Amino acid sequence: MAKYVLALDQGTTSSRAILFDRFGGIHGNAQMEFKQYYPESGWVEHDPMEILRSQKLAVTAAMEQRGIDPMDIAAIGITNQRETTIIWDKHTGIPVYNAIVWQCRRTADICERLIADGLLAHVRERTGLLIDAYFSATKIKWILDNVPGARARAERGDLLFGTVDTWLTWWLTGGKVHATDYSNASRTMLFDIDRLCWDERLLKALDIPACILPEVVPSSGVLGYVANGISGLEALAGIPISGIAGDQQAALFGQACFSSGKAKNTYGTGCFLVMNMGKRSVRSKNGLLTTIAWGLSEGGVDYALEGSIFNGGSVIKWLRDGLGLIKSAPEVNILAESVPNSGGVIFVPAFTGLGAPYWDMYARGAMFGITRATTSAHIARAVLDSIAFQVTDLLRAMEDDTGSALTELRVDGGASVSNVLMQIQADMLGVNINRPQVVETTALGAAYMAGLAVGFWSSIEDIEVNRRVERIFTPTISDEQRSADYALWQRAVGRSGRWISTTD
Ligand code: ADP
Repeated sequence: MAKYVLALDQGTTSSRAILFDRFGGIHGNAQMEFKQYYPESGWVEHDPMEILRSQKLAVTAAMEQRGIDPMDIAAIGITNQRETTIIWDKHTGIPVYNAIVWQCRRTADICERLIADGLLAHVRERTGLLIDAYFSATKIKWILDNVPGARARAERGDLLFGTVDTWLTWWLTGGKVHATDYSNASRTMLFDIDRLCWDERLLKALDIPACILPEVVPSSGVLGYVANGISGLEALAGIPISGIAGDQQAALFGQACFSSGKAKNTYGTGCFLVMNMGKRSVRSKNGLLTTIAWGLSEGGVDYALEGSIFNGGSVIKWLRDGLGLIKSAPEVNILAESVPNSGGVIFVPAFTGLGAPYWDMYARGAMFGITRATTSAHIARAVLDSIAFQVTDLLRAMEDDTGSALTELRVDGGASVSNVLMQIQADMLGVNINRPQVVETTALGAAYMAGLAVGFWSSIEDIEVNRRVERIFTPTISDEQRSADYALWQRAVGRSGRWISTTD
């Protein structure tokens, strides 16, 4: 009996590999950073070969940590930075251009044209998304339009498109499998999330030949095997690749949010709040995205609502690097805990505008309520408050869209280790905050999907018992206090709105 499942967690700044046992315990965890390329202002690229190399090195390092025998690996699961776009030659495996990363804004003008052509309603209806450079569709068009000869080669059937999961799978299977899963397909802005097929009108509008698109398969299911002689991974030949999910969806799975209404928030550089919607593919009235959470079987998908915050943990880094108020991120907690509250100070961290539910790209950061009594401790506290207030905005929007109230929020990500932030969050939301022991939820989710497909875990229930709670934070303030605090935040957001706009 194999003892482990190997998760490949291919992120925006690093590739990681983690080995999990049957109980979700970690037996090797390695991380390899790779280079970010910024060829022009607002452009972000990765070298797809470097992604592949770093991922292989992470696997080797993770296995060497405990001398893991490849025979003991039951399956491989892949989770990945979403939307990032790669196009390569199907005969040689050589990319025609660097990977265009999800953060890259180079296709903003293509998006504006799509909006001017009246495609917004169609995109929302079919894909559950908004028209934005964030998603893969316009990045594919950019490569086909700008790389000499690429369009003709694509039309001849010589090129393949993939997000990073597809790229890794293609290479690991020796070019045999060109596939992605439902969750990643739903982030391309080309996939009809209800009919579960590529949308012809969008392909036509963007001039993308259908022959370059991957097959869309369940998130859990054997889709191929590591081929013989994959350099650096020779010992893994024959191991099934049986799970794929985009990073946020994998984290939702890793947090065991299996039923409708369960939600998790990741407190990283930004914050990602995702709520399981079960079989309901609702569209948001509040600027949230509808996305496929996962498809555990052919044609059987679950949906999620997703909201993101551009500046989450990054505001703590700003305290450190911008203001010099703290020397390291953990110090923010000591400073913030030295006062009972922010002393009336409200900070709006609209460094790059505000995302959902405001969608105001002209808003800028502001601090309100400063008096002669304000200290650096109050500012530190207001900064932590601002993260929790933004998450509260997203959750209120989700509750409005779904018509039901959340009972508990599951948390992970770098800033979720902050006890003071988690207590503030419980107070603001008026619900319990549930922090698990294993915070590697993204990799764990991919491992679970892969392991379920090969019988390493027999059922969702088998997985659910693995989730061990590290700590629950319960609300301590009154409803009146909560409403008063939130009203003040909304007032502050209102005043920082459209700050750099020339029209008002
Ligand atoms: P990402 O995956 O987006 O790079 P992480 O999940 O690694 O982000 O989280 C990094 C963030 O966590 C940083 O922005 C940092 O400010 C915050 N952070 C790290 N350690 C702590 C801590 N002890 N207390 C509060 N915040 C922290």
